[in-house]
Amino acid sequence: VKKNGKNGYQYYSDHLDAHLLERIELEADLRKAIQRNELIIYYQPQIHAHNSSLIGIEALLRWNHPIRGIISPSIFIPIAEESGLIVEISEWVMRQACLQMRKWQQEWELYIPVSVNLSTQQFHQNNLAQKVEQILLEVGLEAKYLELEITESMMMDICRSTSTLQELKELGVRISMDDFGTGYSSLNYLKMFPIGKLKIDQSFIRDLTNSESDKAIVATIISMAHHLKMNVIAEGVETAEQLAFLKESGCDDIQGYYFSRPLPAKELQRVFLGKCKQ
Ligand code: C2E
Ligand code: CA
Ligand code: CA
Ligand code: CA
Repeated sequence: VKKNGKNGYQYYSDHLDAHLLERIELEADLRKAIQRNELIIYYQPQIHAHNSSLIGIEALLRWNHPIRGIISPSIFIPIAEESGLIVEISEWVMRQACLQMRKWQQEWELYIPVSVNLSTQQFHQNNLAQKVEQILLEVGLEAKYLELEITESMMMDICRSTSTLQELKELGVRISMDDFGTGYSSLNYLKMFPIGKLKIDQSFIRDLTNSESDKAIVATIISMAHHLKMNVIAEGVETAEQLAFLKESGCDDIQGYYFSRPLPAKELQRVFLGKCKQ
């Protein structure tokens, strides 16, 4: 913020003004979004690389804004984080995702974990594990059917979170490392934290077919994860060629448009569960 002597704040560019205004407006709207039922969770299937069975489902948040329509989480999650709204929103997502999974267990006998993305702010509350435990109890979902996704870049922020992660682990929830390969010191963190699964970031998958270096990186991550007794899932898989390379390299699971985009619960049910229930 630059102050310009007696002219006050006049030197803001129009562009910045517009951007700021939009942000302030979105933040105000976001405050009301939960109460107004504008937040929706989409669910993206995770598929076993070799037998194509459904092995997990990631919960991905969407905001159905009354005027702007569907807004991507990459736009409103940062606003939610800066404004502190993320804590309330994250708790809502976790509860909804657990409720949905409990429902799928009861109605479809689907016993697989649902993955929920965590944000850094949730680690700054010191009662994250108790919050998670409370939600699981309330919903009646066993801990092993909840997976929490943590990014590598969060790890850097939350070195003191080792104990929080340990508490979560003791609860029995699964922990996976999201966007793997895009942060720093990842190898160190892999030793320090109780992580069961690596998610290879989609930036390594995008050009996989044509890039020898991406092939080498992906194959190395898979082999390293297996040596560390971790599972590996590749994100952003869109083509049969990418899938073929990943299968050949021993990747366990696949997530991406090749199998399915994130879908509303009803839609996922129709496409993926409708077929298996007699
Ligand atoms: P992420 O956790 O890395 O999620 C994967 C993103 O890749 C999702 O974007 C998904 O729709 C997209 N994707 C999946 N398959 C493909 C594919 O084959 N090709 C391409 N190009 N993209 C694919 P989305 O849903 O827009 O979410 C963006 C990010 O927003 C997420 O990245 C996550 O970091 C964040 N996010 C989403 N929901 C939540 C939430 O409930 N809480 C928090 N804290 N963050 C969330
Ligand atoms: Ca994720
Ligand atoms: Ca990711
Ligand atoms: Ca990401």
